Amino acid sequence: MKEITKRLLSWYDQNARTLPWRGSADPYRIWVSEIMLQQTRTETAGGYYVRFLEAFPTVQALAAAEESDVLKKWEGLGYYARARNLQAGARQVMAEYGGKVPSEVEDLLKIKGIGPYTAGAIASIAWNRPVPAVDGNVIRVVSRLYAVGESLGQKETRKRIEDMAAALVPAERPGDHNQAMMDLGATICTPGTPDCDRCPLEAYCEAARLGIAADLPILPGAKPPKEIPCDVILIYSGNRVLARKRTERMLSGLWCFPLWEGWKNAEDRRGEIARLWGWKTDAIRIRGTAKHVFTHQIWKMTMYETETADAASAPEGYVWISAEELNTLAWPTAMKAPLALARERLDGTLKAETARSGGRADSPSIL
Ligand code: SF4
Repeated sequence: MKEITKRLLSWYDQNARTLPWRGSADPYRIWVSEIMLQQTRTETAGGYYVRFLEAFPTVQALAAAEESDVLKKWEGLGYYARARNLQAGARQVMAEYGGKVPSEVEDLLKIKGIGPYTAGAIASIAWNRPVPAVDGNVIRVVSRLYAVGESLGQKETRKRIEDMAAALVPAERPGDHNQAMMDLGATICTPGTPDCDRCPLEAYCEAARLGIAADLPILPGAKPPKEIPCDVILIYSGNRVLARKRTERMLSGLWCFPLWEGWKNAEDRRGEIARLWGWKTDAIRIRGTAKHVFTHQIWKMTMYETETADAASAPEGYVWISAEELNTLAWPTAMKAPLALARERLDGTLKAETARSGGRADSPSIL
């Protein structure tokens, strides 16, 4: 986590967006900017922010103003309840906090119009409190960083993401960290397809590693993942097993055993190997089932195992892998169960009778 924060801050130092409210540690100014940004694009809010602060430069000035003057300065921004609440909040700060915008999230949350995000932004940016400011951008970045596959429609998912975002906030420069997360979400880790190649966090990002960044976060009401039946075929030649490095977008660069869509019986799969690669294989055996749940699909795998003596060279795209290589190559979690079988076999611990049983073995479901 420290490394993530370090990289993010050094990226921010080079790439922070130039915005009219940046560089200010005045909690009132930060408050105004965050309220304006709630339903307004950053580019639009900039001009309004400057004019609003010329008219009402302090919390005292805003509290003392006529409501009609405040609404006039807000004209065109829409959602006028924001302006009314902002002024009511300013009056509350004058009455209850001696004109000083509070520094603690709990106090900020008592002020009219200030919700958890704005409270976090004010406390961290103005007062250096190590608290998160979780908006849509931050939710998207964190969901992808940790490959959160559950729907944002579930309260627990949102809470989990907020906890993850909170854990990332450093004791030093928490405000810059929060603004860096916002900037990353606004410029690189954008909705749709993010620009992972330019992202300072790519090396730490689980969604990028799995090739599923564009599928996250899972928005409320998103379709449930599609179930895909498939067969994983462990083909051994002596003390090696056949595998390939994926080039597809999903799980790109990770290793998988032959993985063929659809469920077929053992003899059909054996015939397929003969047709595809011209190999004679020993009887093909079912070694169990496994399941892996991705955000957008579920692989329901039947695991088969066989041997061939016809393998002078591996088929195009495939490689024969030794027991040592099994441990050094990068495998996706989806391959956990087949990988365990291959390890067992190549480590020479497979019991002959189990290997020859030919029955559907018990195997844990991998989620
Ligand atoms: S690597 Fe890609 S998905 Fe991950 S945080 Fe960066 S931009 Fe977002």
